[in-house]
Amino acid sequence: MHSTPIMRKIREHWLARVSHSLVRGEGVRASFEEQLARFYELLEQAVASGDPSWLDQILDDWAESRTETELEREATSLYPLLNQILLLTFDVQREYLSADESMELLGSVLPIYTYCFERIVHRETQLQINHVSNELEKVRDSLERLDRSKSDFISVAAHELKTPLTLIEGYTAMLRENLPSGKADPKMGLLLSGIDKGTQRLHEIVNDMIDVSMIDNQLLDLNFQPMWIKQLLALTESDLVESALERKQTLIIHDFPGSEELIFIDTERMFQALRNVVSNAIKYTPDGGSIVIAGRTLPGFVEITVSDTGIGIDLEDQLVIFEKFGRLGDAQLHSSGKTKFKGGGPGLGLSIARGVIEAHGGAIWVESPGYDEINCPGSTFHILIPLRKEPPDDKSAVLFRSLSENVQRKSLDAQPIKD
Ligand code: ADP
Repeated sequence: MHSTPIMRKIREHWLARVSHSLVRGEGVRASFEEQLARFYELLEQAVASGDPSWLDQILDDWAESRTETELEREATSLYPLLNQILLLTFDVQREYLSADESMELLGSVLPIYTYCFERIVHRETQLQINHVSNELEKVRDSLERLDRSKSDFISVAAHELKTPLTLIEGYTAMLRENLPSGKADPKMGLLLSGIDKGTQRLHEIVNDMIDVSMIDNQLLDLNFQPMWIKQLLALTESDLVESALERKQTLIIHDFPGSEELIFIDTERMFQALRNVVSNAIKYTPDGGSIVIAGRTLPGFVEITVSDTGIGIDLEDQLVIFEKFGRLGDAQLHSSGKTKFKGGGPGLGLSIARGVIEAHGGAIWVESPGYDEINCPGSTFHILIPLRKEPPDDKSAVLFRSLSENVQRKSLDAQPIKD
């Protein structure tokens, strides 16, 4: 006995039963019946040839006809629909076929239905993945757009602020010059130095904003020059030791093997990055605490560490703080003092430090057991700088060639002679 004639025998009953059981509205039924007839025809072909892939196209069409909105609402899958079709097939077989015919038909139809279930699940999962990744792409696009407009805003605001700031500085200087000479007015002097301090801080903020927008737009132009690591650390110390003293903190710099190495860096930029990290250590450490700067040389790199006994940083914030405006805590806590305890700032310092260090081909990260203002677990910032013995650009390479050759010769001379 063959399955094809058995299938033909129940075709009309099957179509009527399935379409009446699954569809209520007359309007929809006509097109559904058309689909069912196509499905049944392909099922017959699959049974006759033993190749279930005859049904691939219609199953894919059904899965894909589910709209985007259905996917968003997690609309029911085709799986239960196919299940119902299979159950209704059993009913029709029971009513219109003999036991032998039923067995024969089931034997050939069941493996094909199993294939259909697998195909539908596979296709639907694929569609869901596509849908989710499309949505992710959209979110990424809008985040990128938001970041771009944030960066545009910083750049425009910084440049717009610069002009009135220069005006204020100019007029303050003129006022000072026009003070009657000989008669020092202490009150006026105090007012003018107040304006000076304010404009200087504003200048620093505006410059930070310009730096951030240069980093964002990859416009940071590094000017490589030779510098001893030791000298870089000493410069940072002399710049910040007074602030640390004001806060009754100890600022310790440990020499380390390799700290006398001469490396090529943008000295000004690297100093700016290190100063940002160390002034944060002062700012986020209570009075009386300590800040230790140490380091080590690794193959191809020098690692500088800045450890403090401050309030620490929670694990989930340890990446956020390097983003622009990645300041934590209360946004109201702004202060004009750069090193006042928990003084807060615009949240640009670490983002600039990261931009500068990464532009050198280095890296910066932080380690801290967590944030705790009572027990002060502290934080350690790690700064990895490539140990460049030559400037990377041709122009300065020509300029510093003899110097770097000298340095190389010296370090070769210093090596013990092997026999
Ligand atoms: P800000 O201008 O707020 O200091 P930064 O970019 O320099 O901006 O730092 C971002 C945030 O990282 C700070 O607001 C602070 O919450 C946190 N932070 C930075 N350095 C330390 C530190 N040494 N200890 C604890 N928290 C720190």
